[in-house]
Amino acid sequence: MFKLKREITFCYGHRLINYPGKCRNLHGHNGRAIVTLASEQLDDLGMVADFSDIKKIAGKYIDEHLDHRMLLHKDDPVLSYLKSQGEPVTVLDENPTAENIAKMIFQELTLKGLPVVEVELWETDTCVASYSTAASDHETTDLKKTAKEKSSSWIK
Ligand SMILES: [Zn+2]
Repeated sequence: MFKLKREITFCYGHRLINYPGKCRNLHGHNGRAIVTLASEQLDDLGMVADFSDIKKIAGKYIDEHLDHRMLLHKDDPVLSYLKSQGEPVTVLDENPTAENIAKMIFQELTLKGLPVVEVELWETDTCVASYSTAASDHETTDLKKTAKEKSSSWIK
């Protein structure tokens, strides 16, 4: 099995609802997403994937949906105010924890057809959460199937 990893840095704000600690207040992070792809075989160039293609695809998603945005739970009461002020927000059905952000990135890249096996989300230099195929084989299989059905070729 070959694996490769690509790191993408971005800034985001969030807060967790129904949480007793400091993270219940609006605050921000300089986050690092580390995307891991895996393949049993290499392409004609001897690669799992081109690092720049991963950056292009993952970076585009992160730029458009996560970077310099407030990530908030759909029931967060501050949501309507921020939207009314034109602030960039991304709404999640769940609390915007590092775990759920990693899962969002994982699912998006899987749908794009990347052979992603894990996404780590470093919220700080010492705290990391990840979402991987091993954590949810059934769901990932379904996503991969969906991606295959769409037959979107991500290698240009
Ligand atoms: Zn936080």
